[in-house]
Amino acid sequence: SSREAVTVIGLGSMGSTMARTFVAAGHPTTVWNRTPGKADGLGAVPAATAAEAVAASKVVVISQVDYAAMFESLADADLNGRVLFNLSSDSPERLRQATEWVAERGGTLVTGGIMVPPPGIGQPGSYVFYAGPAEAIAAHQATLEVLGRADHVGTDPGQAMLYYQAMLNIFWTTLISYFYSASLVGGAEQLRPYAATMLKDLTEDGSMGFLRILTAELESGEHPGAENNLHMQAVGSEHMVQAFTEAGLDVTVPGAVAALFARADAAGYGADGLSALVEMVKKAG
Ligand code: NDP
Repeated sequence: SSREAVTVIGLGSMGSTMARTFVAAGHPTTVWNRTPGKADGLGAVPAATAAEAVAASKVVVISQVDYAAMFESLADADLNGRVLFNLSSDSPERLRQATEWVAERGGTLVTGGIMVPPPGIGQPGSYVFYAGPAEAIAAHQATLEVLGRADHVGTDPGQAMLYYQAMLNIFWTTLISYFYSASLVGGAEQLRPYAATMLKDLTEDGSMGFLRILTAELESGEHPGAENNLHMQAVGSEHMVQAFTEAGLDVTVPGAVAALFARADAAGYGADGLSALVEMVKKAG
């Protein structure tokens, strides 16, 4: 095969799909997982130990629950000349430590945050935020693109998780808010068309394009509030919390929103607009 050999460490729902995707793309693929039996049916070559799996290929793709799993799995592996692409979740600081850990063992670490669930791997729209040495990514670009578009976001290894977690924050808070709202009206089906329209309006270019409008405000540091001032919204957010309370629902997320508004109002941003909340984000409460 003209495709380079790849080793996949970690065969959970992500790693097993990655292995299957590499096999389908014609890469000689070796796999290892802590718990045996996970390699069955993947069409890849199972290695008896993690060290043997690493020895099989120069390119090692890792997908485990966190980076502690890599430290544990590869403690005895010879990483000389190996390029490790770790697509597991962890904190940016942990990724920086991991880069040292791999370098001390003679290997190169590229950190990555993969932005699709298993069914999206290798499909159109799939992408990964990579951080670390650009040359290691460029050298294995064709292999990486089997999983999805490879976006290099910086040489600081922590950057991969900064971008990944930035996107997860939007994903989780948006969908969790939808769970709250659907519960408030007593049915997701009734709310779905309204929610869909709002999400679309948020990203459009026209007068309802809040993402574009607020981006400009975040970049300029100006928070115009003439048409919808922050004090009015702080009072409104209390009403929102009351609505959840009256319905007998949890108020963790609506309450956090109201608390952020209250803090900004108390700090003197009442006459400003929504984007003034970013001043509270920058100043830990
Ligand atoms: P799973 O829970 O399906 O798999 C976890 C994997 O980690 C298993 O292979 C498990 O091995 C391994 N593991 C856990 N602890 C250790 C350890 N101490 N030593 C060795 N191996 C260990 O998780 P996913 O596959 O869903 O996720 C993998 C990574 O990808 C996570 O970091 C996740 O945040 C990230 N991710 C997941 C997405 C998703 O939609 N699933 C999307 C984007 C990123 P064992 O079988 O032995 O338990």
